[in-house]
Amino acid sequence: MTAPAAGATPAASITPTPLISLEGIHKAFGDLHVLKGCDLEVAAGEVTVLIGPSGSGKSTLLRCINQLEEPTAGRVRIAGVTQGYAEEPLADGRWQKLPSGQIARQRSRIGMVFQRFHLFPHMTALENVMEAPIQVLGRGKAEAKEAALALLDRVGLGDRADHYPSELSGGQQQRVAIARALAMEPELMLFDEPTSALDPELVAEVLSVLKELAEGGMTMIVVTHEMGFAREVADQVVFMDDGLIVEQGTPEQVIDHPGSERLKGFLASVL
Ligand code: ADP
Ligand code: MG
Repeated sequence: MTAPAAGATPAASITPTPLISLEGIHKAFGDLHVLKGCDLEVAAGEVTVLIGPSGSGKSTLLRCINQLEEPTAGRVRIAGVTQGYAEEPLADGRWQKLPSGQIARQRSRIGMVFQRFHLFPHMTALENVMEAPIQVLGRGKAEAKEAALALLDRVGLGDRADHYPSELSGGQQQRVAIARALAMEPELMLFDEPTSALDPELVAEVLSVLKELAEGGMTMIVVTHEMGFAREVADQVVFMDDGLIVEQGTPEQVIDHPGSERLKGFLASVL
């Protein structure tokens, strides 16, 4: 990998460190240059909705944030901490990769929910939510169970704890997936089209869980084309096209007053 950008010297400023900071993120798969230099900041407690046409690089950007992909260049910082690499380059200018254990620890602070729920089919909702806190955080069974039941309650599934995924609707499974991610007590949550695999009548129940999370102060980036949700919940809306962030601003700025023809065309296709 090419060295991550050294990063500009921080300007003297009273602005607090953003929780998420992307600096010049590039990602190529072979000859395919998918991300072409993305810069983005998300403050703690802020909700960012990421929109853009299929293939524009939204999932790849989320995957770079939680180190499912390694950027070809650029740097991801969470709460000021560079992800995947030692804070400072070596004397020869190379950046030193962190050992896998440290990368796993960084990743465990970020929750991710996908379009498909990926629940363990042989485990009940409760067992799905208890699994990682026990295996990864080393929590005791009783403690993990109590926390998992509280989380299932929070996503409206307190009465479904003993159901297997096959006994739950898509919307219920997605809510279990959200509870499972929250069980790791993440600092921030990434959602990649969390409702796009759901039947239309199940979308609202998942969006209302996201909205409650946002109201509780969770920092989140949500890839979604639910413009009503974006308008109501987002602090900022970011429009990506062809590997670049083309426009960003408040929902009003981006959705109601698009600047570029590309964004106007995109909005016409989803509104
Ligand atoms: P979006 O989420 O906006 O639809 P993606 O980030 O999934 O876009 O994909 C952007 C581009 O990168 C697409 O052309 C996709 O085929 C390509 N891509 C994504 N992941 C890989 C991969 N692991 N290997 C090769 N190409 C990939
Ligand atoms: Mg995608």
